[in-house]
Amino acid sequence: MTHNIPLPAHAWPTLEAGWVWLCGAGPGDPGLLTLHAVNALRQADVVIYDALVQEAILEWAPQAEHIFAGKRGGKPSAKQRDISLRLVDLARMGKKVLRLKGGDPFVFGRGGEEAQTLVQHGIPVRIIPGISAGIGGLAYAGIPVTHRDVNQSVTFVTGHDQSGNTPGSLDWVSISKGSQVLVIYMGMKHIAQISAKLIAAGRPASEPVAVVTTATTIDQRVLETTLGTIVADIAAAGMEPPAIICVGQSVLMRQVLDWQGQAAGIAPRNLDPLGRGRPAESV
Ligand code: SAH
Repeated sequence: MTHNIPLPAHAWPTLEAGWVWLCGAGPGDPGLLTLHAVNALRQADVVIYDALVQEAILEWAPQAEHIFAGKRGGKPSAKQRDISLRLVDLARMGKKVLRLKGGDPFVFGRGGEEAQTLVQHGIPVRIIPGISAGIGGLAYAGIPVTHRDVNQSVTFVTGHDQSGNTPGSLDWVSISKGSQVLVIYMGMKHIAQISAKLIAAGRPASEPVAVVTTATTIDQRVLETTLGTIVADIAAAGMEPPAIICVGQSVLMRQVLDWQGQAAGIAPRNLDPLGRGRPAESV
């Protein structure tokens, strides 16, 4: 594959020396990079990337130094401070710095904190959004994050609090009542607590749930379960983070919209899983 096809004419911004571009890499599949991300990868002197950024994406920046700044599962924030200050140092050395983060840099990614530190140190920044795993990852599993028959709102929630340990500080009662569909990031570690709290707050134990791990990569796995059975089913399936957990009726849409399964020859299980009489509208 060639990575140097010219980008179509557009006023592509130049990554100047001494700048930091904070960029989302999307959930995994390199095809989900934005053109701004590709433009940035081609110009960077140095790419500082997270654990969730797929190695294949770094191939788009063969000229750059690649620095791994992996942080996994809510380690102490001193490390975060080190990363932010490293970005400051590199910019001050006159490098063209690309800070590459999984998904979208401003969605549960501490991108806001890093950008704030940079601005506080007088470093000019540009923010490049990315496709967040909670939207793109679910789409790859055939789950629409909103669907007219299901939800008029969606809640994105993290399963970790600031300490990285417990979801205890979150108001799960309000969250459970807040919208028909919940999209939980970083929920695997505390899924027993989270599912119990949602059921205690009134969500039915039979409510459909999907767990999508390493979404959009070749290792993507999808588990369809319910709030009441999720803990046992995750254990039985041996599923590991990173995972997006989607709670709500929209999970049923996978029965008709599992487009990856269909491409592999698996017939849809149910053309109208919500039973709204919309099996083949206006065909
Ligand atoms: N900024 C990222 C989220 C970072 S928090 C974004 O917008 O997607 C890290 C969490 O994101 C993981 O614990 C997991 O819940 C989720 N995540 C990121 N990439 C994922 C992927 N490819 N598959 C499943 N979950 C993913």
